[in-house]
Amino acid sequence: MHIQSRRSFMKMIAASSCSLCVLPRPLHARQNLLFAPGEYQRIDASERTYHISCAFDMFDQYEGLPEIWKESGITDVWLGTWYYGHFPYPWEKLDYWLDVLKKTGFRPHLISVPFCHGGGALDPRDSEFPNLPPPHWKIAKRWDGSENWGFSWHSPTDTEGAEAIKTLYQRYGAFDYFLDDDFRFSSTPSLIGGCVCDECKTDFISKSGVTDFRWNELLDDLHSNSDTPLLRAWVDYFCDRLTQCFRAYSAAVPQVDVGIMVMYMGCERGGIRLSDYSDNLFRVGEGGFNDNWFDPPKFKTIELYSVLLHRRYAKPGRAFSETTIYPEKTLSAENLATKLSISTIADVRNTCFMSGLRAIPPTYWPTLTKRMKQEKEFHTRLLGQNPRGPFKHYYGMASRYLGGENAYSLFLALGVPFEVCGEIPADGWTFLTEPDARAVERGELISNGSKLIARIESTSGRFTKIPEDLESLFAFRRTLLDDFRKMGVPYVEEETPVVLAWYPDANVVYLWNLEKTARTLTVCVGEKRIGVELEERGSALLEL
Ligand SMILES: [Zn+2]
Repeated sequence: MHIQSRRSFMKMIAASSCSLCVLPRPLHARQNLLFAPGEYQRIDASERTYHISCAFDMFDQYEGLPEIWKESGITDVWLGTWYYGHFPYPWEKLDYWLDVLKKTGFRPHLISVPFCHGGGALDPRDSEFPNLPPPHWKIAKRWDGSENWGFSWHSPTDTEGAEAIKTLYQRYGAFDYFLDDDFRFSSTPSLIGGCVCDECKTDFISKSGVTDFRWNELLDDLHSNSDTPLLRAWVDYFCDRLTQCFRAYSAAVPQVDVGIMVMYMGCERGGIRLSDYSDNLFRVGEGGFNDNWFDPPKFKTIELYSVLLHRRYAKPGRAFSETTIYPEKTLSAENLATKLSISTIADVRNTCFMSGLRAIPPTYWPTLTKRMKQEKEFHTRLLGQNPRGPFKHYYGMASRYLGGENAYSLFLALGVPFEVCGEIPADGWTFLTEPDARAVERGELISNGSKLIARIESTSGRFTKIPEDLESLFAFRRTLLDDFRKMGVPYVEEETPVVLAWYPDANVVYLWNLEKTARTLTVCVGEKRIGVELEERGSALLEL
């Protein structure tokens, strides 16, 4: 493949005779509208669509990428523009590739990396690419004593981010604009976020009404991960700040549709009050960016779990996936392709392929294209449907405020239908993560009738302990199958890790094989038994 560096690109356009070569030019001298006047429409997809996130360095890496993407079924391209205080690319480069992409027939959109991923996380090979925000931005001080750039903001990050949107609008007209998932207050999905610098501490104390002498008590709560009103006030304060910043960006230019990319298992503990973003473009959080991480069935279920949580808030047509490989080539084409099942199950209509600053290798696209077509076909049958079933996905506020991301998710791999619940329902079996289980133990969280299962022992007898492993969970499942048969609940007969999503209104089930082994499976519904072949990591849609 032809590799072209940023510097050689600049030489190339400077040496060409086209109108692009006039360098430098004043910022607003040229408008290169992303959409013709009157043609821009806010995104609300009525079918499965395929997008790709693009950094310009990718075009330097492989020749002919736009054509490869187009042939594969990609219709929309998202271009990185503003990176935590910098516009690192020459405007001429942005204009040039926007022209190329529009001529190739793509709908273009823009992305920003608003707060910074902490330096170097984007893996830029180009020494000219800025790794950190400008010096007048302020570093965050964490309650655990660490300091880091990014994943937080102090003034003037908010006003400079809004100014960047205005600058882009003046040049490119109306557009969609995703904020990358550094838009948060914690450096990892597990940690309770926030900043303890003097400025943030003073502001927290004045706005929350918490007195200064309780500050050390708060730090104790954060260290011991204790669900207290003080800790919740801390998390609420940073949720308020992040929401206010998002609203300032959204208000900067009404013609710009600002969206949030929520990290894998991202929620309130990271400053992200999920319910505040339900009208916005919303990327659901996925992880598993490399094979070591994504291969185990447990991980595939927690990725699905995260997406199901976020889809409680995101609207299907405004929801985007985080179908990511990072760093380059560390996730196989087969694993990247099988991630497409998660969006089908959860009715996330916009798949967004992402890969940092390096491109998905061209050799991946035949595998991806085949699965993209298949999932689009399956998804068409499931549009607007929610999975239903006796196993309940519930991730309560106790879990969302406290540290830890490892939700009890493996029940999704039992070939038994499930549904997503905003409260503990009256029926079925609800699987609780530890903070929620402890809230049940304290009597602060109550079941409406559903039987409760957790990974820890209950002293009150309010829930049953089942370890989160396939052996224990399949043993538990054996005790339920007679009831499922009598109730007409479909299930997979074999004890193998497979997701079965049931859509009763469409009278279909969707199956996702979590293993690298092809399977012949039997779906039982009442007295009926239906055979189905599943390719390794493959999926199937079955009429009942
Ligand atoms: Zn601070």
